[in-house]
Amino acid sequence: MSDQPWPFVPNPNVIDVDHAEGRKLYLSNGRTLLDASGGAIISNIGHGRKEVADATAAAMVSMSYAIPPFTTPQRKRLVERLRRVWLPSHLTRVWLASGGSEACDAAFKIALQHFNAKGETRRTKIIGRDISYHGTTALTLAVGGHVARKVGFESVMTNTLRAPTPYSLRSPLGRHHPDFDIAAAKALEDIILAEGPDTIAAFVCEPINGSSGGAIMPGPRYWPMVQDICQRHGILIITDEVMVGFGRTGKNFAAEHFDLKADIMISGKGLAGGYAPICGVFASDAVMSPLADAGMAPMFYTYSGHPGACAAADKVLEIMEREELVTRSAQKGEELRERLNSALGQHPNVAEIRGQGLFFGIEVVANRETLEMFPAESRMTQRIVGAGVEEGVFFYTGGTGAVRDILCIGPAFTVTDDELDQMVKALKTAIDVSIV
Ligand code: PLP
Repeated sequence: MSDQPWPFVPNPNVIDVDHAEGRKLYLSNGRTLLDASGGAIISNIGHGRKEVADATAAAMVSMSYAIPPFTTPQRKRLVERLRRVWLPSHLTRVWLASGGSEACDAAFKIALQHFNAKGETRRTKIIGRDISYHGTTALTLAVGGHVARKVGFESVMTNTLRAPTPYSLRSPLGRHHPDFDIAAAKALEDIILAEGPDTIAAFVCEPINGSSGGAIMPGPRYWPMVQDICQRHGILIITDEVMVGFGRTGKNFAAEHFDLKADIMISGKGLAGGYAPICGVFASDAVMSPLADAGMAPMFYTYSGHPGACAAADKVLEIMEREELVTRSAQKGEELRERLNSALGQHPNVAEIRGQGLFFGIEVVANRETLEMFPAESRMTQRIVGAGVEEGVFFYTGGTGAVRDILCIGPAFTVTDDELDQMVKALKTAIDVSIV
């Protein structure tokens, strides 16, 4: 075994970051990488914001820790700001975790507790979608559809209901069939009817797919139909906006593009923009009241609502408000779309460029006409990411293993025009040199 100290599984090609500033990563070998994906689509305000560090330090000097059921000034301030500025008005209850997996796990359990508290004890199933990712705990992996990340854990996964993702490019009705969205919504209802509506607690979905599908857009009729189906059958809608929330798609939350009203929403990465590990579960009074009446509460994690993390998140949100960064995400996103379309729109190996705000997926194929994929063994996505690094730009991998060769772009909302140019140029070169 190598004596390399990090990562856990030794990797000779590991990228050794010394420090970061703005949208740039400075490596220990003297090279610079432009971060086209803000890490794992998380760095919404860029690196090096000293005022976030100062706010976090002040919180830590004031207290290292307080058990989650207690209130603290940092918790109160963050929740007050979330309610006043960011959250849809019906999502009044805020619960905090350290990351997306923890938060999704808690959200799924809250849905189960909700029905248990109401005495609807048959409602124990959660429907996910075939192309999705909700985290890496046993429950979130089970509900999600990320094939590659489940390998070896099948024995602990009992929840297997998955509806199709409305995937226009590869709709079972045919490429870009006009009714791809309706078909996917109908397929969800078919599953509900086959299982028995009174056995289903919740339907879980990303309003716009995160990296699991690479910004797959759902089509205009999908969400209105799904909202209606779930309402008719008494099923809770849980939206996972861990990746697409907090301005990433050019609105506070991606559900706002579709007038989608979730019963429970999870959102995290952009909440503290990478400055602290924190992720929120946001629920309506109607979801939480039965729990309160029955004396139930979701069990906290030791680090839920850590005061330092709350202070960091509060400051990051304040910066996003002050600099109007959600509007900027929408504007720069359209500028990025134009650049991507012009450089890669007709590329023989690019099947689709899709996305919203500053979040894009670029799907690469062996044959643009037939949509034939590159063989899995060619590890095309990894090759393109590696070639991008050679060009001085980092892109994030998308796909689930079965769905593959998707590059994700999601830079900080402060990105400049020159940086957008650099990203698009590097991506084109990386694709061209990787496909020989
Ligand atoms: N849900 C979605 C949509 C995500 O994109 C992710 C992570 O990328 C998660 C959940 C899991 O979050 P974490 O990696 O913070 O546990």
